[in-house]
Amino acid sequence: MKEVRVRFAPSPTGFLHIGGARTALFNYFFARQNKGQLVLRIEDTDSVRQKEDSIGQILDSLKWLGIDWDEGPDQGGDFGAYYQSQRLSFYSNAAAELIQSRKAYYCFCTEEELETERKRQRKEGTLIRYSGKCRELSKNEVRERLEQGLKPVIRIKLADFDQIIVNDLIRGLVKFKSDQFDDFIIIKSNSLPAYNFACVVDDHAMRISHVIRAEEHLSNTPKQQYLYEALGYTIPKFAHLSMILAPDRSKLSKRHGATSVSEFKDMGCLPEAIINYLTLLGWSPGEGKSELISPEQTIRSFSLDKVSKTAAVYDIQKLVWLNGQYITEYNLEKLTLYAVPFLIQAGIVSSIEAEQNHSYISAVVKTVRERVRTLQELAEASRYFFKDIIMYDEKGKEKYFRQENVAILLSEGKERLAGIEDFNVENTEKAYRNLMEELDIKGGQIIHPTRLALTGRTVSPGLFDVMALLGKKRCLERLEQAIDYINKMKS
Ligand code: GLU
Repeated sequence: MKEVRVRFAPSPTGFLHIGGARTALFNYFFARQNKGQLVLRIEDTDSVRQKEDSIGQILDSLKWLGIDWDEGPDQGGDFGAYYQSQRLSFYSNAAAELIQSRKAYYCFCTEEELETERKRQRKEGTLIRYSGKCRELSKNEVRERLEQGLKPVIRIKLADFDQIIVNDLIRGLVKFKSDQFDDFIIIKSNSLPAYNFACVVDDHAMRISHVIRAEEHLSNTPKQQYLYEALGYTIPKFAHLSMILAPDRSKLSKRHGATSVSEFKDMGCLPEAIINYLTLLGWSPGEGKSELISPEQTIRSFSLDKVSKTAAVYDIQKLVWLNGQYITEYNLEKLTLYAVPFLIQAGIVSSIEAEQNHSYISAVVKTVRERVRTLQELAEASRYFFKDIIMYDEKGKEKYFRQENVAILLSEGKERLAGIEDFNVENTEKAYRNLMEELDIKGGQIIHPTRLALTGRTVSPGLFDVMALLGKKRCLERLEQAIDYINKMKS
């Protein structure tokens, strides 16, 4: 088989969006599975839609996700440049070739003329198509107009054909009737290439074997196939990945909340969880298999003909759930490193404290991680391990601090804890169990108010884990504080 070479070709028009990330990932899977090459090409010739900084943001997001490529803007490669804006001579040469062979022509129609034509067509109810007016201009006419300084576009001169058939590796044969096409523009009046043209010229020059991209480009593919043939290039294989729709099956947009990799990152998602989630948008590990799937596992079994044909539905709850699963299982040291910026951001620790208390932070992370789904939640769940309690949960207060004899119970508890020398999980638990037995009370009667006293909350990790982590001094202080508070509540 010919060497597999695929590409991810983002336009720098904003952040790396979930759809773009999924396209990059599926190209990556395919390249790695086939021991081929993944090329990153920046399609930056549309200066109007371009947003500053977005190239850097896209590259950072890809790297953060762990999607690496073999050739591209930063490391180069044999088929560069990897920015389209640095490849303009490729496009003008290819266009000149088409003009030479009379497969393309200069068109001098102005925007006003074209608009008048379109208006007429709309009125007559005919298809909106360029009339082909400039098709037959003679060489002299063209030269004269160029000498006058007019800025033409270059259009492809479509030959007669019935239909174009795209053989898509995911969708099978897709037919496009000839009336869907007119002499489309390949070079714009500012001399920059139109997307379809640049894409074909580059995919050929970069020896791309498989074009794997979003379904929204399927309608461009027949035009591109036409261009491949006109230029005498071999047509690569195509695979169009299904759309990603919003939960209400409308087009996914900003109003559906976080949709870019950087937003997921800011929410506190781990790259591995995002990768796992993106994998499931079109790929299935197979009936009855766990949805927790690593890139290595997917690479082993990946195949384009098994990628889903139907639209994937974006479900942030599923991403968050998956993220929770990863947080629970993750390497503790790595998870701590990811958690620290969230603790700083939430004002829970300062950067200096984070450096000095690394092992304590790690122990907190270990204790809270099973109950949280994002790093933001992890930070919130860690707060009372670092900060004093300034407020008690409202409902908890009513339920547990108004209990009869609660202050007496808490001071008994406090006394027992004060007597412990080695203040660890086992000993704190033993002290509380003995107390419950002696007083003949149910566990909840003392455990719930103690939890509220120590954490300010009604839910937390195991109470004795919390005690051991807080340490004796803070436990005693917080119990004392709660007892005072309860006494004030009563008076
Ligand atoms: N620059 C195009 C985009 O961002 C890529 C299209 C393609 O992959 O051919 O949608």
